[in-house]
Amino acid sequence: MVVRARARLRLRSICLHVSPVRQAVSEGPTILEHRDSLPGRPAKDFGEVEVAIIGGGLAAIVLAVKLLDAGITNFAIFEKGSDLGGTWHWNRYPGCACDVSSYAYLPYLQRLGTVPATKFVGSPAIRAHLLNIVETFGIRAHAVLGTKVLSADYSDDGGAAGPLWTLRTDRGDTCAARFLVNALGFLSTPRLPDVAGLSSFRGMWRHTSHWQDGDLEKCRGKTIAVVGTGSSAVQIAPELAGVAKRLLVIQRTPAWVDRRGDGPTDETTRHRLLNDVDAMGIRQELIDGNDLFNRKISSDSSNQRARAAITRIIRGTVRDPAVAAALTPDYPVGCKRQCVADTYYPMFNRENVTLVAGTGGVEEITETGFRLKDGSEHAVDVLVLATGFDAFTGAFRTFDVRGRGGRLLTDEWAGGPRCLYGMHAGPTFPNMVCLLGPQSPGIIINVTEVVHRQTDHLLEVLQHMRSKGCPRAEAVPESVKRYSDATNAVFPGSVFSQCNSWYNRPGSGADASHSSGQAQKPEEGGVEGWVGQFQDWRLQFTDGDIKYS
Ligand code: NAP
Repeated sequence: MVVRARARLRLRSICLHVSPVRQAVSEGPTILEHRDSLPGRPAKDFGEVEVAIIGGGLAAIVLAVKLLDAGITNFAIFEKGSDLGGTWHWNRYPGCACDVSSYAYLPYLQRLGTVPATKFVGSPAIRAHLLNIVETFGIRAHAVLGTKVLSADYSDDGGAAGPLWTLRTDRGDTCAARFLVNALGFLSTPRLPDVAGLSSFRGMWRHTSHWQDGDLEKCRGKTIAVVGTGSSAVQIAPELAGVAKRLLVIQRTPAWVDRRGDGPTDETTRHRLLNDVDAMGIRQELIDGNDLFNRKISSDSSNQRARAAITRIIRGTVRDPAVAAALTPDYPVGCKRQCVADTYYPMFNRENVTLVAGTGGVEEITETGFRLKDGSEHAVDVLVLATGFDAFTGAFRTFDVRGRGGRLLTDEWAGGPRCLYGMHAGPTFPNMVCLLGPQSPGIIINVTEVVHRQTDHLLEVLQHMRSKGCPRAEAVPESVKRYSDATNAVFPGSVFSQCNSWYNRPGSGADASHSSGQAQKPEEGGVEGWVGQFQDWRLQFTDGDIKYS
């Protein structure tokens, strides 16, 4: 409390440096749900596919390669964007990059024979890599682009071949599928600040995930506010500072921003990545990265050391002690998702950058700017909303998934999602999985690793159905409950529960149930422990957790 009060006092004076000038910009507010356009086409009946995949990001691309490897070629990927790539198709803001090592993040490096130029590659390079996979493996032929699925309905009565899902799209298409895969992405539904007035703002505004090519030039010489201080803000703000007349960083809660430590890929790493993936290559990167992070946050004393280390970085970088104090969080490292950046703290030494903190955040957006909770008003030309995503379940609210008896998945999860290993929603939703769904351990375990494990599992389910001649697979309710209860029990005691973030969805509480806590506990063995648990489960799932009929 004392720290917060002191920071608030200091920041009142910092906040006085706010430009009262608003320069006109020609562009009005842009609707959030924009879609980069593709030419219209007549509605199509896609007939029947074995697997329909909704969402065309990294998870769908990894799965597509495995389906093709397994000889399953009758599948379709429905993607609302104009191309595949998911997160990396949409997130094009300046500075956007992967905040985990690209050696561990980029799938199929060895199969493509490519190695990233640096340890942390940017969004364009990630997008290019994913599209390289798409072209190399012929995945584009399976993609239905610029097409949003509006509904997916399950029927037990799908004819002689068994149950069937029916998909309908915003282009008027229909598609019947024996198996449905929700590869929606867990950070794909943008979250606007929960305040009134955005539609009245006369300047240009963007959510970071809907940044348009050319927007940076539009920002040149303007007064800009970045709302939020999570990973997206930490990446975009320094880039905006380089072109803005004045940049206001609207901080409600500071983030712990550790060093990034980027650098070119050396020859040893290149050799290792191309030739030694399983032994000491990518997997070792993954294990080291995750375990280092886990060790940092897993005990009070290690967390104190991590806090002290980043506090030293802040104090050693930011010249104004009041600004440095305001940038220093008062909660444990890792409670909110860890940010990494080398340009964020130095940015606050620039003359044209002002930290606006200790105000309680944005309360209302006005025609000319915004009002903060402390009552101060600020005029800006451009509002950049780095306000995050409706994590995990948000994407499931953008279309209707109806299982047995027409039951909506969102109703099934109204009291909080229950999802076995982040994949199976239970017997109301047979022949359906989520990839990186709610209760996936995708918070601190590298998402690519989770996707690989989950898609391996899905392939086993599909092959089991084929070999046993069972058209239907459904998770048994006791198994879903057991997993879900165990996951929910871990979360409250973990570091993630000690502050608000997209991990626990402030305001709703309903989704405070991700299984990362399991991987975070050293006694559970970190990432390797989780992978082992998943592996063990897969070896026995045919007898217990999944019912085939
Ligand atoms: P985020 O971490 O959820 O941050 C949202 C920010 O908006 C928070 O600082 C929040 O403040 C602030 N905010 C919300 N409403 C506000 C209001 N009314 N007034 C002032 N501030 C407000 O979102 P994100 O930065 O987009 O990151 C989300 C996740 O996406 C990351 O954690 C990361 O996993 C992923 N991501 C990854 C990369 C990458 O490099 N791979 C890049 C970007 C994002 P409070 O903290 O007070 O709520």
